[in-house]
Amino acid sequence: MSTTTTPAYDDNNVFARILRGEIPCRRVYEDEFALAFHDINPQAPVHVLVIPKGRWVSFADFSAGASAQEIAGFWRAVGEVTRRLGIAARGYRLLSNVGADGGQEVPHFHVHLFAGRRLGRMVA
Ligand code: IMP
Repeated sequence: MSTTTTPAYDDNNVFARILRGEIPCRRVYEDEFALAFHDINPQAPVHVLVIPKGRWVSFADFSAGASAQEIAGFWRAVGEVTRRLGIAARGYRLLSNVGADGGQEVPHFHVHLFAGRRLGRMVA
């Protein structure tokens, strides 16, 4: 049986610092479960990151360890962000990188939201 190990949460990662207000962000939305802000290096006309308030390294530990309320609250917030951005009619892409093979750079679970142009095919 294979096992996966999630690294310990680093309280000094950049998104933890944004959550604590130590680093500024261009905020789009915030509630008790999530914070959404513009990516500093946008890859599409709309490139927003949605992060949970809890100390989760990636989708791996979030999906296994967060409460049902946290999980529902987070994904509801993602939907709310899409509605506030007015992108639902033309469509958008949600993406989350997990771990080394997934290309994750910031070790705080986040979902990328891309929109504003016809996006290319996914590249594996
Ligand atoms: P990852 O590769 O999925 O971990 O993506 C991390 C994302 O965070 C990248 O798209 C970065 O451009 C973005 N990022 C890193 N630092 C900041 C910041 O201080 N503000 C906003 N976005 C950031």
